[in-house]
Amino acid sequence: MSSPPSVDETSPAAKGAELHEVPCYLCGEEQQVLLHEKPPFKIVQCPKCDLVYTTPRCSGDELREMYQTDYWQSESAKDFGYTDYLADEADYLKTFRMRSQVITERFEKPGKLLEVGSAAGYFLKVMKDQGWDVTGVEISEHVTKQARERFELDPIHVGTLEEVQPELDAGGYDVVCFWDVIEHLVDPAADLKRAHALLKDDGLLLIETQNVASRFAKLLGAKWHHFKYLEHLYHFSPKTVAKMLDDCGYEVIRNTGRYGGKHVSYGFIRERTARIHSLMPKLLFPLKWIANRSLYLNLFDEMIVLAKKK
Ligand SMILES: [Zn+2]
Repeated sequence: MSSPPSVDETSPAAKGAELHEVPCYLCGEEQQVLLHEKPPFKIVQCPKCDLVYTTPRCSGDELREMYQTDYWQSESAKDFGYTDYLADEADYLKTFRMRSQVITERFEKPGKLLEVGSAAGYFLKVMKDQGWDVTGVEISEHVTKQARERFELDPIHVGTLEEVQPELDAGGYDVVCFWDVIEHLVDPAADLKRAHALLKDDGLLLIETQNVASRFAKLLGAKWHHFKYLEHLYHFSPKTVAKMLDDCGYEVIRNTGRYGGKHVSYGFIRERTARIHSLMPKLLFPLKWIANRSLYLNLFDEMIVLAKKK
């Protein structure tokens, strides 16, 4: 019997990790239409429900290990993780201040908010500054330490949502957010159902994830910077994310590319464009004058989805 393929050069953290073929997560269909390939990985689309996903992939335990430390200071961020998540603090805070409006414009006064995948605490910090009572959940102890020390955020529970759910306030949150998270989870619907139990009856669920049906994604094809084979297990579209939410007891009330942009540095642009062509960073040299400033970039290839309980 042959052994499963394993990851080689994609990431130092992933080296040797075993890969497993998977059927469609949303409908169980085993037939796949191949969209892109970077051996050993394939990006495929389900012919029945249209879900785009990565197969083969690592197990949840292996992925969890990768997210501990290396992910936040990656040597090859165009493939995996971030070059230096902590050094880009000012840009992340600016981005989340802008994005927070999508929530705050719906509330007359600050409430209670839970963020799943709170990373270094940038979004929680922004909401706390606006008077919100904030709680985080994060699997990496490494970045959580930063969030606690830099922004005095408390509580942030370290673990998966499944593990820390007993410590959370069931039915007590006005808002539950997943920024850049669901595409990384092996079983995102399970966490969306947990969020359902944590939200107040009229609570708001927020998901932000990349939109594989966007014009920019279609234009770039295999070169799209969100096709990160190791870490992005799913590439949702407005249709497939709505199906998953419906299965989990939610109805979508808004899906928008507005607020989906980011304040980014020259370094970030250089790193992501290197995916498109190795010469791109050189062509972008004139942009170097903004090296110490940031640029607001919205490619409308990410979607912010707001949902309520059905
Ligand atoms: Zn399917």
